[in-house]
Amino acid sequence: MSKLLFIAFYESDLSAAPGFAKALGIDYDTFLAPSVPSDVFAKELAKIATGYSYIASPSSMKSKDALPYLAGLLDTPMVTDVISVVSPTTFKRPIYAGSMIATVETIGNPVVITFRPNGFEKGLPVSASTVTLEFTEASNVKVVSESNRGTGRPDLGSAKIVVSGGRPLKEAATFESVIGGFADSLGAAVGATRAAVDSGIAPNELQVGQTGKVVVPDLYIAAGISGSTQHMAGIKDSKVIVAINTDANAPIFEMADLGLVGDLYTVLPELQTELKS
Ligand SMILES: Cc1cc2nc3c(=O)[nH]c(=O)nc-3n(C[C@H](O)[C@H](O)[C@H](O)COP(=O)(O)OP(=O)(O)OC[C@H]3O[C@@H](n4cnc5c(N)ncnc54)[C@H](O)[C@@H]3O)c2cc1C
Repeated sequence: MSKLLFIAFYESDLSAAPGFAKALGIDYDTFLAPSVPSDVFAKELAKIATGYSYIASPSSMKSKDALPYLAGLLDTPMVTDVISVVSPTTFKRPIYAGSMIATVETIGNPVVITFRPNGFEKGLPVSASTVTLEFTEASNVKVVSESNRGTGRPDLGSAKIVVSGGRPLKEAATFESVIGGFADSLGAAVGATRAAVDSGIAPNELQVGQTGKVVVPDLYIAAGISGSTQHMAGIKDSKVIVAINTDANAPIFEMADLGLVGDLYTVLPELQTELKS
């Protein structure tokens, strides 16, 4: 029988396992990854990989860093950003910033996979047990510093609601109070455009898009975001996109399900007041 080793880099990854395991129709073991350098992690995992047909994790910065190491060590195929399972060896994944979907076939075993979180419906729980590892290998990676902003907000990659802001937020404090404040009233995660990140308005890890995170929430609220192809590549599979923009001709309105032509500095506080009442 095919077997999946599901790697959870974050607690929130665990909720993505049942749907993905169901898509492949197999049982799985779960491994909750501690924060160790990716090379050490891959070396230890390679030791227990025998017997698994698939080693998979939701797409995230951590899985994109660690799993290619593992595929290299095992000399086995890897497919990233899987959005659907066609057959046990055939998968669909977006290419060219999501403008085309490639169908890829793997030859070799096991297959290392990252898949888009929220891309798979949650299925019935399948049987899973937890695997534990000892980390004894030396690392070639030197951790220079580590920081955790500890915002207490939902994880951007798996949040049900995301509120994002763009360049017009002008400075970090405004971004935090206007976008962060509104997100908190909805229990949402916070995202940003690259323009906002590059201008120091928002932290790097909040960037959504082609070169940032791909999000698939039920509701994506874009405030002061023009709708560049690079930003849309990261949000286009959101169930409902709401855009707030002063320019009625902004490209984001072409993809938005709901559009509000207006000033975010007026609209968001008004919506926030409505939510409180
Ligand atoms: C290789 C490459 C990769 C990239 N990757 C990414 C990526 O991953 N993610 C990403 O986001 N971008 C990415 N970009 C950048 C992208 O091309 C755009 O420059 C960026 O998305 C624009 O960000 P923005 O919408 O915040 O700013 P702008 O394009 O300046 O848009 C601001 C919008 O806000 C509106 N506005 C102004 N004031 C208000 C107000 N008071 N209220 C409401 N609306 C207002 C304006 O009408 C405008 O539409 C990439 C670019 C390149 C070349």
